[in-house]
Amino acid sequence: MLPVIETIPLRQMASGDRLYLQLYKFIGAQPGKKVYIQSNLHGAEIAGNAVIHQLIEFLLTINDTDLAGEIWLVPVCNPMGTNERAHHFSPGRYCLYEAKNWNRIFWDYEKEADNLIVFTKSQLNIDPKVVRQNYLTIIQQQFAKILGKINSPSGVPYTELFGYKLQNISLDADYLIDLHTSTNQALDYLYYFRNRDDSAKYFGFDFGILLDKYDGDAFDEAFIKPWLALEACFKELGRDIKFDVEAWTLELGSGMQMNPDSVAKGLRGVKNYLVQKGVLQVSNLSDDTKTHEMTFTSSSKRKKYYAIAGGMIQSRIELGSSVKAGDKLYEIFSFNKEGKLPSVIHVCAQQDGLVYDVATNQAVNEGEFVLGIVS
Ligand SMILES: [Zn+2]
Repeated sequence: MLPVIETIPLRQMASGDRLYLQLYKFIGAQPGKKVYIQSNLHGAEIAGNAVIHQLIEFLLTINDTDLAGEIWLVPVCNPMGTNERAHHFSPGRYCLYEAKNWNRIFWDYEKEADNLIVFTKSQLNIDPKVVRQNYLTIIQQQFAKILGKINSPSGVPYTELFGYKLQNISLDADYLIDLHTSTNQALDYLYYFRNRDDSAKYFGFDFGILLDKYDGDAFDEAFIKPWLALEACFKELGRDIKFDVEAWTLELGSGMQMNPDSVAKGLRGVKNYLVQKGVLQVSNLSDDTKTHEMTFTSSSKRKKYYAIAGGMIQSRIELGSSVKAGDKLYEIFSFNKEGKLPSVIHVCAQQDGLVYDVATNQAVNEGEFVLGIVS
């Protein structure tokens, strides 16, 4: 099947040139869920582009009768981030002009849903599918107000314009997948939200991190938090509803790289997820996720280690190692300017866990990231 391809103007630059988003819509023969997948929101995190590229190649080989619903794909979803360079390196994590993280800029309806309890009470005896539609309509009405600001003479800062453009094409999705990597070097894992453990297993990853502590205004959070809030509100009023709305952030290895294993794992995971959710109706995809053991932990159990002195990191423990409290993690050697010989500091683990992320740069100023452990 062929996709419908749309280009969406994003921004005009000082030179007069324009940036665009390009959206690939694969539309199935049968109605069904809408899946939205984007990659490269952070500029250095390019592995997801390979996943989308291979997903497009795969979808071209199937028939529209093999697809229920729609799959919308937006690779290189943040041209400003993707194209940014500092010598060979892609920084691309922040909008430098506004000093904002590109993944902390999104509009979150939950923050302005002051009358959620009133709405929920009005929906207590209504079919969940209708509730889903009623609530989505309210979210969309509120979201549409941003367009008024964008089109006003005073305009909006670029991050707001950019956030609007991405959310405008994803807000009504049922399943949303945001493909990231570490900025540094990391394992493959996924972030998920409460009550979605069962679907998390479909991706076939070794471990998943429950977002029990929010960073605020991230793309996945902004999408699903209003729905989690509504579920919680129903629960308080004695009605158990779980909407079939899911958001995932897949972390596919290291920044500035497209590690073939990470890409393959991401692609296999996304395909299997789509099969398990009934979107892709192809029978010949292998599924080892039913027996795959997945470790679940939560974001509050992540511990980031920051350099306790400036200097050079050496003898660092390997990415993917399991550590016990007290095990040595790394050494820092520092030259001083106090007329003394160089010193070496040994840094040990405060807790048991798995080393899931390590810095690419072995030179650190005091207070810079060295490695991350999840327990
Ligand atoms: Zn990222």
